[in-house]
Amino acid sequence: MSTIEQNLQHVRQQIASAAQACDRAPAAVTLLAVSKTKSVVQIAEAIAAGQHCFGENYVQEGVDKIHHFAQQPKAAAIEWHFIGPLQSNKSRLVAENFAWCHTVDRLRIAQRLSDQRPESMPPLNVLIQVNISDEQSKSGICLAELPALATAVAALPKLRLRGLMAIPAPEHDYQRQLAVFQQMYQAYQALRQQYPQLDTLSMGMSDDMSAAIAAGSTLVRIGTAIFGARNYVGS
Ligand SMILES: *Cc1c(COP(=O)(O)O)cnc(C)c1O
Repeated sequence: MSTIEQNLQHVRQQIASAAQACDRAPAAVTLLAVSKTKSVVQIAEAIAAGQHCFGENYVQEGVDKIHHFAQQPKAAAIEWHFIGPLQSNKSRLVAENFAWCHTVDRLRIAQRLSDQRPESMPPLNVLIQVNISDEQSKSGICLAELPALATAVAALPKLRLRGLMAIPAPEHDYQRQLAVFQQMYQAYQALRQQYPQLDTLSMGMSDDMSAAIAAGSTLVRIGTAIFGARNYVGS
């Protein structure tokens, strides 16, 4: 068995035990494999081990991989999520290539994504990114801005608002991780009062997935625990 296959098995077990510990079904938590900076050979190994959803942070790198795998036999089963910061001048590539975008944090970007989504494709699934703990970070909106942005995004024809995403500031203490994720869960539940069709709360990475699942995450974004440490070229 390859290392990536072993790592995937281990991560799936971690997800299952975190879910069971709080009486949630393991299948209620989607595993997104974060493959930024990783090669198509490594991604192919993960696909062979049964992984279908992949997250990419850099637009051009992600598009190159999507084009590569579009030539492969199981292409239709692979789902690509854009999870990096998005600049306006790159929105078209995201709209034309990805199935999901997790990082919508202003109306201008949402509008462009909707306008640029090809008619022939289903609506782009989007999450609004909330800046829940890291005041230094420029990505994500604050909770007070959420209702207005959600209303505007939900009205765009070629987008499908699915829920919320957060990247909390790194924190090693489990209870503190949990407290921040619970704030996100409350915001998500409040928004679901208005939009009951929302079904996705994207939170939890390699170092905090258990707390995220305990707080109600429906999708964890895992890179390092599957593919190993990254050689950073970006952020
Ligand atoms: C890189 C990244 C991840 C994965 O982080 P790991 O700690 O490697 O699991 C998850 N989400 C986002 C937005 C990322 O940029």
